[in-house]
Amino acid sequence: MASKIEFKIFESESAFLDPRKGFQETVVKFQVRVDPLTGKTGHFSHFGAIKPQRLPLEDYLKPEIKGFCPFCLENREKSTPKFKKEIIPEERIIRGESVLIPNLYPYDIYSAVVIMTDEHLCPIDGFTEKRLFDALYVGIDFLKRIKKIEPHLPYHLMSWNYMPPSGGGLVHPHQQYFASQFPGNQFTDEYRASKEFYKRHHKSFWDELIKEEERLKERFIGRIGSSVWLASFVSFGLIGEILCVFPEIYSIKEFNEKAIQDLTSGLLKIFDYYKEDGIFSFNATIFFGEEKQMFFPCHFRIIPRTFLNMRDYAPDLNFFQSLLMEPVSVLLPEELCSKVKTFF
Ligand SMILES: [Zn+2]
Repeated sequence: MASKIEFKIFESESAFLDPRKGFQETVVKFQVRVDPLTGKTGHFSHFGAIKPQRLPLEDYLKPEIKGFCPFCLENREKSTPKFKKEIIPEERIIRGESVLIPNLYPYDIYSAVVIMTDEHLCPIDGFTEKRLFDALYVGIDFLKRIKKIEPHLPYHLMSWNYMPPSGGGLVHPHQQYFASQFPGNQFTDEYRASKEFYKRHHKSFWDELIKEEERLKERFIGRIGSSVWLASFVSFGLIGEILCVFPEIYSIKEFNEKAIQDLTSGLLKIFDYYKEDGIFSFNATIFFGEEKQMFFPCHFRIIPRTFLNMRDYAPDLNFFQSLLMEPVSVLLPEELCSKVKTFF
């Protein structure tokens, strides 16, 4: 039976007289792809033109640049908030180096930050299996506790800005976790489209996506236990996006230790790729849907972030993403897949 999923690509080109070639005519190709779930488009152009920039990590420890960090061990106790006992009886959730505290600038009713390391600066290769597992563990534990206290808040999120190009306000590694009725437009669009797909075809879009990607072998990176890793057909990141789906897990309640372990193992592989490719910064999220539905499995997304250059720190997002709400990528998902696959 034919797949219910369609991967639409519009290939096109633009011609001009090129000053780099004595004003000979040059033809440059680009693509527009349509997301098979939401129908939203994404551009692929400027291929290979943007390289991740090396961050001056050692400078981040210089006092004049570091400034005051509330997450550093010497400030943490007196400068970071605590939860009310009726929400978290122990006030902060601690496991290994990870400490979960309320967000001083909350995004929602229950909004937490996980400080991931004792050290202020943790380069990508400093994320050991234990550090990643512990951070995810306390964050997921928090969301599960909130689910019990406030079952009417249907959606749960993890989000992570790592290093300044990602928009992270503090270099000290931290993740954010919150429960919400308003999980953001992307979540809402995906959720609605997944529900409609399920109604129309009596099957999950995500199961079909995995089946089809596994058959095509162009963007299928691999499986780790309960998780499936893909290069996204349309990429939110300028230099690619990796998507990890847990096809059997739908809500925060079902996200068990095994899933945390599988996510950690996959992340370590992605980080090996990032190290090799010189990627110093990223954004990541996990989306958790409502309980008692079988059309929106939880999924994780990670995109590299970079300054375009270190001369004037131009960000890698521009009018396309900020005003046209259109992602642009300089790396085709099929190329990303073949690069990342060697680490799986
Ligand atoms: Zn710090």
